[in-house]
Amino acid sequence: MIVNPADPHSQIRTTSQPCLLHSRHLPETHVNHRHHIWPLGEGGPDIEDNIVVVCATGHGNIHDLLRHFKMLGGKVPYQILRRYSYKEREFAELGYKRLTRRAM
Ligand SMILES: [Zn+2]
Ligand SMILES: [Zn+2]
Repeated sequence: MIVNPADPHSQIRTTSQPCLLHSRHLPETHVNHRHHIWPLGEGGPDIEDNIVVVCATGHGNIHDLLRHFKMLGGKVPYQILRRYSYKEREFAELGYKRLTRRAM
């Protein structure tokens, strides 16, 4: 495990356990990341309630979609949403809500 406190995404572990986004992965062994739903860089708290364990691919997708939420003021059209899984949408939307109201 690599831990660099300056980089919230450096806390990774390799595991055969599924991430919170997908019930299974190919290949079965993948890297999980600890994602802060309300990102640390945007003032989010470093507490367990704000952290979900997701695979590297899903993690990238959540941040990608969160960027859309921010660019579009929270109104992301279905044409964009449909590219993401339900869980990815859920975590991105929750992250947007937390960072805009500055509360958990
Ligand atoms: Zn993240
Ligand atoms: Zn996954």
